[in-house]
Amino acid sequence: MRAHALIFLGAPGAGKGTQAREVATHFGIPQISTGDILRDAVKRETKLGLAAKAKMEAGELVPDEVVCGIVEERVSEPDCRKGFILDGFPRTIAQAKFVDQMLAAKGRGKPLVLDIDVGEDLLLKRLMGRQTCSVCGEIYNTYFNPPKVEGICDKDGGKLLHRADDNEATIRQRLEAYHQQTQPLIEYYRGQGALLAVDGNKEPHEIAKGLLDYLSRA
Ligand code: ADP
Repeated sequence: MRAHALIFLGAPGAGKGTQAREVATHFGIPQISTGDILRDAVKRETKLGLAAKAKMEAGELVPDEVVCGIVEERVSEPDCRKGFILDGFPRTIAQAKFVDQMLAAKGRGKPLVLDIDVGEDLLLKRLMGRQTCSVCGEIYNTYFNPPKVEGICDKDGGKLLHRADDNEATIRQRLEAYHQQTQPLIEYYRGQGALLAVDGNKEPHEIAKGLLDYLSRA
């Protein structure tokens, strides 16, 4: 894989996190999820967490300066030297421009963007049924991919949690924010010529297989 930065684009529930994890493990590069970093800050009640909490609970985007600051700090860590995956960032045109500037300043080329596309009905089910292991972050779904024992992670016995923002009202607002603010990025990156459309309606392992095949040749 030649690109230094991989970006996962897609609506909430499209499977960005699931696929980014697979790709990160396969290529041995870090997955940077702004959502995970923000949720961790909320849990620890840091200054950042307190600033982001209300926006996240309302399903709105956290301000650009805040998330750009998080990403800038994270990508300057040594494990990002070989490359990195951005999962859930950028989500606005201003954030996309920030990524371009950041890569240019590091002497790196354009990012490779993977746009995971999923039908709206399926998105809703995925979000409503989503559960995440509190220990290892493995993602399950009560409809499509339930754990062997309800509420418990198959891998390490960790407790599975349902995200606070995975409720119907907040999901609708997150989808709205996606349509208004994030979808325009598809055209932005199409213009840069480094956009791959990924059919996200298939089984996660099937999508991962296609992606890894593609990336090992990219
Ligand atoms: P999803 O893609 O499933 O909605 P994430 O875990 O990526 O979930 O993000 C959860 C929430 O964190 C978002 O609804 C938003 O409030 C905030 N957030 C995450 N990434 C960004 C970003 N790049 N810009 C602004 N807000 C963000």
